Amino acid sequence: MNIHEYQAKALLREYGAPVSEGRAVLKAEDAKTAAGQLDGPLWVVKAQIHAGGRGKGKFKEAEAGEKGGVRLAKSVEEAAEEAKKMLGKTLVTHQTGPAGKQVNRIYIEAGSDIERELYLAFLVDRQSSRISIVASTEGGMDIEEVAASTPEKILSFTIDPAVGYMPYHGRRVAFSLGLTGGQVKQCVALLGNLYRAFVEKDMEMLEINPLIVMPDGNLKLLDAKLGFDGNAVYRHPDVANLRDETEEDPKELAASKYDLNYIALDGEIGCMVNGAGLAMATMDIIKLYGAEPANFLDVGGGATKEKVTEAFKIITSDPNVKGILVNIFGGIMRCDVIAEGVVAAVKEVGLQVPLVVRLEGTNVEKGKEIINTSGLNVIAADNLSDGAEKIVKAVKG
Ligand code: GDP
Ligand code: MG
Repeated sequence: MNIHEYQAKALLREYGAPVSEGRAVLKAEDAKTAAGQLDGPLWVVKAQIHAGGRGKGKFKEAEAGEKGGVRLAKSVEEAAEEAKKMLGKTLVTHQTGPAGKQVNRIYIEAGSDIERELYLAFLVDRQSSRISIVASTEGGMDIEEVAASTPEKILSFTIDPAVGYMPYHGRRVAFSLGLTGGQVKQCVALLGNLYRAFVEKDMEMLEINPLIVMPDGNLKLLDAKLGFDGNAVYRHPDVANLRDETEEDPKELAASKYDLNYIALDGEIGCMVNGAGLAMATMDIIKLYGAEPANFLDVGGGATKEKVTEAFKIITSDPNVKGILVNIFGGIMRCDVIAEGVVAAVKEVGLQVPLVVRLEGTNVEKGKEIINTSGLNVIAADNLSDGAEKIVKAVKG
């Protein structure tokens, strides 16, 4: 689960991290009051969407020469004007995809003078099974470019969970960033605070780009992106409250309400599968037969008829879906429950595309009978590869 920059900064401020004063604005008419509460002479007006690259992004409605999603202003009036221009518009960045994201919130911040822009991130490194600190002297808007062309400029440090964060981690990072004197001390304290926030709030990702050195030598977080482990959000009601559902895929949102493990993809074959491993295998075999999966969906072990119905509805609501493959190996899950769910869902939403069903395991005969006597136009499959072959053939001809 991701949150907005202004929410991330407020959270990290509670952990003692240095951030600027700022105000979030949801309505254009509030922009001037918000900007007026901040000290000049520089204001930064920032589009709040769950995607990076805003500075270099472009609004779909932009006029010639209009700037991206991060704008500097020299007066309260100018700041309010820029906020008004961005609200309600669609910002396209390299992280939003071509459809872009609508800007419904603006953050106005007291501007900072920048001497150097650095890059700093914490993430869960699956290779080492540890939290890693990633740092680079090349912070700012081109970190992807740095990673591609000069990867040696991005350094990574892992933290042993048994020991936790130690000042020497901070000193190593500080030296690698070219910090000196009092900045090293600041960096050691800052990293300790960020590590504490990361662990206490069950984060998956914490990215500060840029972390700046100001002309007075002090450090500040100029941008902040936080991602939380969705499976742990229930432990943090304060974090759950920051959820902005308008930023999420509506299909994934609906799935999460029914406790379905669903990830939207951009292929043409909708998949309904039980078990994460079988779901992965199903996606692989669809690709093997020459098509692309439209989603990952694990309905779980103890799915009810209602849950299966909901899953089926989510799959069919995707206009890219040209065919559906139901692949169930009933262990804990019973094939007859799946069959009832599929039949109920089709009766409710109709079936515009070919449907291949492969059932195996507990109550398989009962399940097949439910499907066969339902009057639905279902293509039966005997095993995984047979199912994949049949659905790809039905879709691609
Ligand atoms: P992103 O493009 O979505 O990553 O948005 P950022 O918050 O990182 O802002 C993009 C760029 O705008 C930064 O790399 C800075 O160069 C610039 N910027 C952001 N805030 C300030 C500020 O307070 N003062 C100045 N001078 N530049 C800023
Ligand atoms: Mg940034």
